[in-house]
Amino acid sequence: MDFPDQSFCAGTVEAGCDRPRVHRPIPRDWKEFPMPQYSADPEIRPASKDPRSLKTLLNFTVENESRGSQARAATFQTLHGKVETPIFMPVGTQATVKWQTVESLRITGARVLLANTYHLLLRPGLEVFKQFGGIHRFMNWDGPVLTDSGGFQIFSLPHSREMNEAGARFQSYVDGKSYLLSPESSIEMQKTMASDIMMVLDQCIDSTAPYAQAEAAMELTHRWAERSLRARGDSGQALFGIVQGACHHDLRKKSAAFLRDLPFDGLAIGGLAVGETHRERYELTALVTEHLPKNLPRYLMGVGTPIDILEGVHRGVDMFDCIIPSQLAQRGVAFTSHGKLKLRRAVHKFSQEPLDARCDCPSCQQYSRAYIHHLVKSAELLGWHLLGIHNMAFYHRLMREMRESILRDDFLSYYGQKRLELGRDDEQNPGRPPKQAKRSEPARVGDYEIHTSAQGFSSIRQISSGEVMHSVNRPLDEADKLYVGQAFLAARLLKHGASADEMTVWDVGLGAAFNAMAAVQCFERCFAEQGEKNLRPLRLVSFECDLDALALAAKYPVHFPHLRHRAPFQILASGKWQHASKLLQWELLKGDFPSLIESAVVPDVIFYDPFSFKTNPALWNAEIFSRVFKRCLPKSAELYTYSASTAVRAALLTAGFFVAAGAGTGPKSATTIAFTRATGPGDHPLPPPLLGREWLARWRRSGAKYPTDLAEREKRVFDSLIEGHAQFADET
Ligand SMILES: [Zn+2]
Repeated sequence: MDFPDQSFCAGTVEAGCDRPRVHRPIPRDWKEFPMPQYSADPEIRPASKDPRSLKTLLNFTVENESRGSQARAATFQTLHGKVETPIFMPVGTQATVKWQTVESLRITGARVLLANTYHLLLRPGLEVFKQFGGIHRFMNWDGPVLTDSGGFQIFSLPHSREMNEAGARFQSYVDGKSYLLSPESSIEMQKTMASDIMMVLDQCIDSTAPYAQAEAAMELTHRWAERSLRARGDSGQALFGIVQGACHHDLRKKSAAFLRDLPFDGLAIGGLAVGETHRERYELTALVTEHLPKNLPRYLMGVGTPIDILEGVHRGVDMFDCIIPSQLAQRGVAFTSHGKLKLRRAVHKFSQEPLDARCDCPSCQQYSRAYIHHLVKSAELLGWHLLGIHNMAFYHRLMREMRESILRDDFLSYYGQKRLELGRDDEQNPGRPPKQAKRSEPARVGDYEIHTSAQGFSSIRQISSGEVMHSVNRPLDEADKLYVGQAFLAARLLKHGASADEMTVWDVGLGAAFNAMAAVQCFERCFAEQGEKNLRPLRLVSFECDLDALALAAKYPVHFPHLRHRAPFQILASGKWQHASKLLQWELLKGDFPSLIESAVVPDVIFYDPFSFKTNPALWNAEIFSRVFKRCLPKSAELYTYSASTAVRAALLTAGFFVAAGAGTGPKSATTIAFTRATGPGDHPLPPPLLGREWLARWRRSGAKYPTDLAEREKRVFDSLIEGHAQFADET
């Protein structure tokens, strides 16, 4: 097998790099790209007795291990050139790193990209990769690519998959087709994508899973690891095994010991950053790396923040990936040498400073904080692009600095100093007077802290966006009034006539579980008053991608009395809870709401309470509402949300909903209710009157008619959907 060295300089920002950057034109004939050889021989290549003498495909070479630390600097060789470690790999889920071109990625210093087999299998589909000879030519990226096995995404789909020894069968959210993901088919897909590094299929479970469950998942992962190796044959693509075992130390050791005897080209630590504390994560990382062979690269999957990465390198990890640089860019946050900068804050409105005077990325060289502040406030894509460039340059610079200090053999002192630096908040613009900050540090978990209102009640605030969940009223009162009360949940839980079927409530944006617990408490009141025989079964489905808000509230029950109940703790631990009568089932669907819509049980009622348009615009557009509407269609359903904005109501109308004004709350004079049918569901005792022509006239005059930026043609379609909506047809 031939390993052409196509190394190019990682980017113009790389200090001291004197090699010219190689711009390879896209070849017309894909065969110019090195293709892996597929094997007909289904044998696992024999492992050497002494793993240290094993020659691997990547030719991983440790250059130095820094004294007093497990940190190491190394190189390895892929089909698309050499890689220096420690390395951070930007995540290109859909064969694109969000809002970046391959040129901008190179400028930030990106070397290896991560692509997501599951999403790319569903769209554009493997046939496209066959035609293009793999992912490199398709996305015009000539550096190395690592593909994941697809397992992580599939195990996050609780409803639309079945799993057994063979693999996992699931239904596509794109076209409804059924797919089998087995260790063999995952490798076959990754071969078709011709990535440089493939990952084995593993069974992902929460890091907080109990022992027996974690052990079973680990053993299955081991059997699948052997099958993956057989399926790889003698392909030139490298293959990594994945250590599992949740938070159980002896399982982690057992898993590392099992996998190190198999002929993998690298080993990953999976199943972390999904529920455990930072301290547990650091401990487990150290424990696993201690049991991994020194001659293979070690990859800590899905981790993390700059400080997590620093801690990982200190504990002997070589490779990292995470969506944080782009995700925080979208929230208007920049990592800088003097702390995290929140660009949404008004303090930047007139600032002519760059994001970070010590950064040489193009965003800092060419744009002011004031301009980026403006772009972020306007939800302009350019703002996310510029912040994404800066954040990724920050990450790659951190990796480079760590590597240099390891090679100089002074990583330990670098680590001590950098730890303090990365822990800082925005020190140029402190958010509150230092005196107050000294008095009491707010309680925090991840990106959330406890917020105490002027009226004395506690809520949760997202630190990066500054947004407070339920900021104006006592949160549980608001949940009761806006969601449980308006939906007449108590009345509709009673069996009457034909309506004895299970009722399903979607709780979109679990947050600190205010709305979900309001529903649980409502059910328990009905149960006590009416008895088991008279109640319909209730299924409560919560959607949440980040459980830190609930974890934080659960730590301080004195501030959050609604959590003095077993249910939210079970949800945190296992994602499931049921009432003793089994009439109420509550489950958590963990992940981004858009990726779960089509796989969740069809709802009767939706509590729509995600972060606002400003923080999370993707959840308020017509496309999302249209997918929700289609999912609801088998039933007559309704959606309750706190937003009463003209643009949100317009988006709901174009999606097909019939829209009414909901009750006001606090200073807000109204909220919004959307029905899939004009009359509302049959068991709804009092559907409110729909918005009439008066609203339509207001919408026509509004300066914010559209939920997002639309092209002129799209605006015309949007206008005609609203003007022609049946809701306004019979009014005169
Ligand atoms: Zn910069």
